[in-house]
Amino acid sequence: MNKRIWLSLAHMSGREQDFINEAFDSNWVVPLGPNVNGFEDDLEKYVGEEKRVVALSAGTAALHLGLVMLDIKPGDEVICQSFTFSASANPIVYVGAKPVFVDSEEDTWNMSPQLLEEAIIDRKKVTGRYPKAIIPVHLYGMPAKMDEIMSIADRYGIPVLEDAAEALGSEYKGRKCGTFGAYGALSFNGNKMITTSGGGALVCSSDEEKMRIMFYATQARENAPHYQHEKIGYNYRMSNICAGIGRGQMFVLDGHIAHRRMIHKFYTEAFADIDGIDIMQNPTDDYNSNFWLSCMTINPDKIAVSREDIRIALDMANVETRPLWKPMHLQPVFKDAPAYVNGVSERMFDRGLCLPSGPMVSLADAQYVVDNILKLIS
Ligand SMILES: *Cc1c(COP(=O)(O)O)cnc(C)c1O
Repeated sequence: MNKRIWLSLAHMSGREQDFINEAFDSNWVVPLGPNVNGFEDDLEKYVGEEKRVVALSAGTAALHLGLVMLDIKPGDEVICQSFTFSASANPIVYVGAKPVFVDSEEDTWNMSPQLLEEAIIDRKKVTGRYPKAIIPVHLYGMPAKMDEIMSIADRYGIPVLEDAAEALGSEYKGRKCGTFGAYGALSFNGNKMITTSGGGALVCSSDEEKMRIMFYATQARENAPHYQHEKIGYNYRMSNICAGIGRGQMFVLDGHIAHRRMIHKFYTEAFADIDGIDIMQNPTDDYNSNFWLSCMTINPDKIAVSREDIRIALDMANVETRPLWKPMHLQPVFKDAPAYVNGVSERMFDRGLCLPSGPMVSLADAQYVVDNILKLIS
């Protein structure tokens, strides 16, 4: 039996250990220090647009603090892309607000601008108030239709919190994902584009915002010799050890993106002649996905096997794959949330499978995955 081929494993540059050793040698084994500052500097340079970045304990924490910064209050409504991981939506509930889910469009699989506007207008009719924030997601690294989404958001004066957890390095019209909205959340979980073993960051626009995010992330301690609190705080700062891993990972970020794009190109070419199997593509040159995961969809009118048949067969061949995200409006935990749907995300969930795509997946591995799929459908 071959060794198991995993969806998205972490891969180290070798420099991580140096930064961690430095932290131990200088006794910076705390949630602040030179690695935290250094990692934030690296990320600020990387995303550009004169943005500021705060390193946090998780992408979920970044989304939560984004909502805190936007002053989302109990009873407010927040619009969230339905086709996503639950971590996009859970922080809405953490702040006592109500998620309103919006379905995707076909080109990017991300938030449909048309449905977004319908939802905004309808929420105003139903509740008398506009939603207080919009959370679009760049799913699997594919940039959402940010021009359209931002112009609708601006028209109604609603701030955007981008979930760029899967999209570090992805670009829309030459600009990095996570830099379009008022705030942008990044993730460095073990399976994401780079890892800090677990971590995230919030992208913001000014030093003043950065200071306030850091304030909330470190228990909202006021400037006093004793512990003085006027706000509810959180313990969300990234540790100096994790940030050391992050600094080391910055050396391989470009390489990892290139690798994932190469694997994506390989799958694309391998299935080019198969009618009924499609690999998700950049819809136009405006989009430059990092292809965090390569996603395959199966057309049931043309292929007799289901995505579950393929997933199980690959699992037996020692290959990890995963169905596309189950939309939030189908999740039992969100069954009472208003949802504006058009069938796109439900169809993708039924038909789609994420293929092994990480830096540890070789072209021989990808060939093995393709061979097993072709064997099954022929
Ligand atoms: C991973 C992920 C998150 C959460 O990030 P963590 O660092 O795991 O907390 C949020 N949104 C999406 C779309 C993700 O894929």
